[in-house]
Amino acid sequence: MSIEVILLGAAQDGGIPQAGCECRNCLPAQHDPGRKKFVSSLGILDREEEAFWLVDATPDFREQLHLMQTHAQDCKFEGIFITHAHIGHYTGLIHLGREAMHTKSIPVYGTQTMLDFLASNAPWNQLVEIRNIELRPVQDSVSIEISPNLSITPITVPHRSEYSDTLAYLVKGSNKKLFFCPDIDSWDKLQFNIKEFLEEVDIALVDGTFFSEGELEGRVMGDVPHPLVEESVQKLQGLQTEVLFVHLNHTNPLWEVGSERSWLEERGFRIGEQGQSWVL
Ligand SMILES: [Zn+2]
Ligand SMILES: [Zn+2]
Ligand SMILES: [Zn+2]
Repeated sequence: MSIEVILLGAAQDGGIPQAGCECRNCLPAQHDPGRKKFVSSLGILDREEEAFWLVDATPDFREQLHLMQTHAQDCKFEGIFITHAHIGHYTGLIHLGREAMHTKSIPVYGTQTMLDFLASNAPWNQLVEIRNIELRPVQDSVSIEISPNLSITPITVPHRSEYSDTLAYLVKGSNKKLFFCPDIDSWDKLQFNIKEFLEEVDIALVDGTFFSEGELEGRVMGDVPHPLVEESVQKLQGLQTEVLFVHLNHTNPLWEVGSERSWLEERGFRIGEQGQSWVL
């Protein structure tokens, strides 16, 4: 049987609504919880093995785990692959601790620097010490055969490395490959050509944090570098791959139906929708 991947959220680390924000994307969600958008994360499901895994433990982990358990009844939660140590990607691990789930040795995969960060900083080190989680280091480009029909390959990407380096993940089922890269500073700083790489991939969920320059009013966008969606579309045009943008900031006009969304879709790209799934 095939592997299924579910997009459990498509927002940037701060989610929607972002704390204290009343912008046009956040205000409706402040009033209506149904309009809340979860932080970018994947659920990967192997029904034959009755198991599922998450990519990233976001601040919305509680709801996202529930979504996954509802979707994958009878399947066991078998581990979390972490991309990096920015708040939207690992802080959901707090729910695995003594005050909440108190899990037993859930495998947490990440780079050695990511895992060292967890092992040496409170409160994360308590998860390690009392064995709520079990740290499993992964290496750039070394695939992990997680089940007979599923392998996951970590790929190092350039991104602000304040606390850890950063990974994207390539998820391979028996028929298709899906690439998940929620955070990257620049496609040009990658070790390889992204367009050539994506030619071999069926589905790509990539960093769509900002649509265009000037989106962060009153802040220096160079402090938080990301490829702008406008630039990524130019760079990736002509691919057969299904490319969807995720990790959208609350300021991103693509959240709404409008001229920017039309511009994107006319060029064959889309934004990732929470709950969307693919069979690999
Ligand atoms: Zn992020
Ligand atoms: Zn906002
Ligand atoms: Zn980040």
